[in-house]
Amino acid sequence: MLHSRRPGAHPLSTHEKIEFAARTTIEQVEEGDELAPKFDAHGLLPVVTTAAESGEVLMLGYMNEEALKRTIATGEAHYYSRSREVLWHKGATSGLVQRVVELRIDDDQDAVWLRVEVAGSGASCHVGYRSCFFREVPVGVPAAGDRVVLQRREQAKTFDPVAVYGDAPNPTKL
Ligand SMILES: [Zn+2]
Repeated sequence: MLHSRRPGAHPLSTHEKIEFAARTTIEQVEEGDELAPKFDAHGLLPVVTTAAESGEVLMLGYMNEEALKRTIATGEAHYYSRSREVLWHKGATSGLVQRVVELRIDDDQDAVWLRVEVAGSGASCHVGYRSCFFREVPVGVPAAGDRVVLQRREQAKTFDPVAVYGDAPNPTKL
């Protein structure tokens, strides 16, 4: 349903023309053809992003309504940064834009799967790796006295974060 707009209001920008349906029935949400996403109590939904070609999991992020609408409207991944509390056009700073090859939503429409092609060096992780999931946690009980030791699964960074981001604050919060 279109909202009525007061006269003289500025024209809608592209992403504002995208409307989400109200969630009315289970059948509509699960098997219908209406986009009726469910955002959580913080107004977010989780997004898993994979490389379109290889299927490699690149990152897990979150979108608010505006990020989802902008992603749909532009065909480039937009997220909501929980640490920085801002809408985030992925690649705006680094040039490593994620072009959306396919955008899927899950059965109950509370999670999104993006299949993307990444510009430039192909990295999606601000630490410099292709995937944010570049370390493996070994499964199994360690020997007495041993700690869990993370195993690096990408050998080299695909870009130098210092060169790309300079002195911009690191989004990782302790
Ligand atoms: Zn990362």
